[in-house]
Amino acid sequence: MRRTQLFLPTLKENPAEAQIVSHRLMLRSGMIRQSAAGIYSWLPAGHRVLRKISQIVREEQDATGAQEMLMPTIQSAELWRKSGRYDDYGKEMLRITDRHDREMLFGPTNEELITDIVANEINSYRDLPKNLYHIQWKFRDEVRPRFGVMRGREFLMKDNYSFDLDHESARHSYNKMFVCYLRTFARMGLQAIPMAADTGPIGGDLSHEFIILAETGESEVFCDKALLDLEAPGADIEFESDLQPVIDQWTSYYAATDEKHDADSCPISGEQLVQARGIEVGHIFYFGTKYSEAMGAQVQGSDGKQITLEMGSYGIGVSRLLGAIIEASHDDAGIIWPEAVAPWNIGLINLKVGDGQCDAVCEALYGEARRLGIDILYDDRDERAGGKFADMDLIGLPWQIAVGPRGLKDGIVELKRRSDGERSTLSIDDAKAWIAERAAA
Ligand code: ATP
Ligand code: MG
Repeated sequence: MRRTQLFLPTLKENPAEAQIVSHRLMLRSGMIRQSAAGIYSWLPAGHRVLRKISQIVREEQDATGAQEMLMPTIQSAELWRKSGRYDDYGKEMLRITDRHDREMLFGPTNEELITDIVANEINSYRDLPKNLYHIQWKFRDEVRPRFGVMRGREFLMKDNYSFDLDHESARHSYNKMFVCYLRTFARMGLQAIPMAADTGPIGGDLSHEFIILAETGESEVFCDKALLDLEAPGADIEFESDLQPVIDQWTSYYAATDEKHDADSCPISGEQLVQARGIEVGHIFYFGTKYSEAMGAQVQGSDGKQITLEMGSYGIGVSRLLGAIIEASHDDAGIIWPEAVAPWNIGLINLKVGDGQCDAVCEALYGEARRLGIDILYDDRDERAGGKFADMDLIGLPWQIAVGPRGLKDGIVELKRRSDGERSTLSIDDAKAWIAERAAA
């Protein structure tokens, strides 16, 4: 993408309304704009990151055998009356009346809707287990929307729902998601720690929140220091085999949200106990038959008897993750995107637009990257070099290549790694070869 054509409205000043760094940087780097309290438009740069995060979530879900679908944002109140949550959900639910005076709502979550679909369509034990997910906008009329996309009212969530015949199989579905989440967040460069959590209004008896430690987090959490550098399982993990060893490893250390934490019974103390603030990026629940019973989700078992399905639900805050990643990865100059989610992987800076040689080398490198399918942003604006460097640091692309007349006199361009600022010089041919290596990686 050429910067002269891109819609990327950056801001030099810190917007007064933003209290935390991720919100400031998302506004300044032209990723989002607020359209109403807690409701945002995603501009091209923000939308690219949102898509990359969604894609990682999708690939990791698919690897477990979960199947993607898409349910509507608007739901009928009738379904929510069946589960009793139409009243329980209170003011967080945005209620809508259609022209025929039918009560509708903008879905804050989807347990009722998916359970109704499964109740109608799945009748035999042979069709189970199933795990169905979608990545869809939710609306919750939060009392205090704040911190940008971290606590929005409209936000993008991946939510999935598992349906099993018995407790043991439902536990396996839960374990799969536990392991899948570890991998999903690790791919985004995040250390997300699963913590024993309250089940809240969803109900049930087993739940973990996945937490990123960050000063600006809204939750207070407690965990064993050992968890800070425990490694997530690799891509070779077999989801159908026994996942218990991975679960045991992660749950053998103490980790709890403040609702679950009990200072008196906590087994660790002193240096070993980390007390910190955290951002909840995911939440998994096993709740048994709470919804299947209410919605009549039963199948016929092999002995002909009716079985009420065992369920779990699993959420990832896809749009919140943008804020969480920036909270975890930035410096005074701007965002430092992990390679896997960066809006573009390389930023190419032409330091003297209009100079025949600079233009020609930039076009050659830009063309090469495009040919290889690498996401590259070419700053071809006729502006001062200082401003362009600052802008590129703010946007936070992992790599910068600067092409200027001084370097070109010696036949070199400069490469900078955003994460640590490390610079090196490359000949033009080496720069091309370096780009090709990135494509192969
Ligand atoms: P919280 O305690 O932060 O309100 P929750 O327990 O209500 O979260 P879930 O219902 O488990 O959240 O939703 C799944 C995921 O969706 C959460 O882990 C979080 O990452 C994300 N999420 C929830 N509410 C919001 C929101 N208002 N804005 C952005 N993301 C959200
Ligand atoms: Mg909530």
